[in-house]
Amino acid sequence: MKPSVNQENGFTELADYPVDPATVHLDLDIAQKAVTIHVAQDWPGGPICRNCGERWPCRLARWGVNVLLAGGWSHEDITKLVEHAKAGEVPWA
Ligand SMILES: [Zn+2]
Repeated sequence: MKPSVNQENGFTELADYPVDPATVHLDLDIAQKAVTIHVAQDWPGGPICRNCGERWPCRLARWGVNVLLAGGWSHEDITKLVEHAKAGEVPWA
């Protein structure tokens, strides 16, 4: 396993995409798509993003969660969204 600069937070070497509180409302729709598309897939070495193949949570998964949290969502809301999406129920369908 590669050493990570921010291991205590579970972050990889790449910096997170920025979240601007002033424009976060503009990104809520795409953030919802990001967190439902960039979901974890279990591998022996740890979870991998099903969409981009990076160690999960990947940058886009983290960005989506950060945008939704900044937009007033709770972790519970996000978990429910992901579960609904896995069942094929998405708000934009
Ligand atoms: Zn991903």
